[in-house]
Amino acid sequence: MADYEFVLPSGQVIPVIITTRRGLRNITLRPKTRPVCEIHISKPWLVSTSTALHFLEQKRSWCERVFLDVPVKAHISIGDTIEFLGKKVLIKHDETKRANSFIECADGLCVLIVGGSSDMLERRVRDFIKDSFLSAVKQVIKTTPKEFWPRRIAIRDTSSRWGSCSSSGTISFSWRLAFAPFDVMRYVIIHELAHQKHMDHSPDFWKQVSVLYGFGVERAKRWLNQHGTELHKYF
Ligand SMILES: [Zn+2]
Repeated sequence: MADYEFVLPSGQVIPVIITTRRGLRNITLRPKTRPVCEIHISKPWLVSTSTALHFLEQKRSWCERVFLDVPVKAHISIGDTIEFLGKKVLIKHDETKRANSFIECADGLCVLIVGGSSDMLERRVRDFIKDSFLSAVKQVIKTTPKEFWPRRIAIRDTSSRWGSCSSSGTISFSWRLAFAPFDVMRYVIIHELAHQKHMDHSPDFWKQVSVLYGFGVERAKRWLNQHGTELHKYF
């Protein structure tokens, strides 16, 4: 829980978290923009909190600039329609239900009935999308030959990488790919599966990607380059 706040000229309030560390020589200041906007200050044992906050004030314009470029997150409310995993989904709420339920509807519109209290709405929608994303990833993997199936799948919220493949056999994906077109998500999955055979980006690697993905690899890569930041629109 943040004890202090940093108010931007726009009125947006950024929580300030101050921690004391033994062995630290100077105050360190880290404005974080992901996964949420926060300012983290680490201070040496003998430096008071008010000195640390004074230090933050001295760096005010620098901090403000860091948060200036952060796109404002779109909030999700009851009655909104959002798109994920290639579906248009209308968000409804029913607090008499404990679990979320998903209803497939006609004409490409689906309904997600979010259970529980409404103040948890966004978190519950996010958890639902994450779970659905994991199922979708597994489905795509099952379309490939068994030799490409990974030992473990991990779902992450990374800002710069959409997927990664470790030598230990774990393949990780950013769940925000759920907001990308299905073929773009499929491309990232295939890309990481192919890394299990080729840990580099050699011509042999790209050949493997094409064999597994089919036509359209360049188009998917281009989409990610052009629209990748839009996948961070929510939450
Ligand atoms: Zn790669």
